[in-house]
Amino acid sequence: MAERKPFHEGLFKEGPDGGALLGSKCTSCGHVFYPPTGRCLECGHEELTEIELSRRGALYTYTIGYMPTSHFMPPYALGEIDLPEGVRVFAPLEMTEAKPFEVGQDVELVIGKLWEEGGKDIIGYKFKIV
Ligand SMILES: [Zn+2]
Repeated sequence: MAERKPFHEGLFKEGPDGGALLGSKCTSCGHVFYPPTGRCLECGHEELTEIELSRRGALYTYTIGYMPTSHFMPPYALGEIDLPEGVRVFAPLEMTEAKPFEVGQDVELVIGKLWEEGGKDIIGYKFKIV
């Protein structure tokens, strides 16, 4: 099995329950951020705690890409997902022919291999239609 490497450290965790995105929550005003930040962008407070974000959210918008990128071959889908904590996450969407995307539909986090690089599996996150 190939070595696994996150595409970026500190953005998500893997686990038997499917893992989670890691956000930060301001200890002063309670605002939640993703990606995590060291300073509250609402009130300027510098004490934030790491929290696991909800795995389910609602699709705010999406687009289908038809130009190849260095990591994704067309067609591929990208979307913005609204999570209950009040954050909007930009992420790839799992393509399915059976269920076309619709704004507002429920989506769920999937953590797994996004692409291969230098013999390693690059791990990241995407969302799939529930
Ligand atoms: Zn704050």
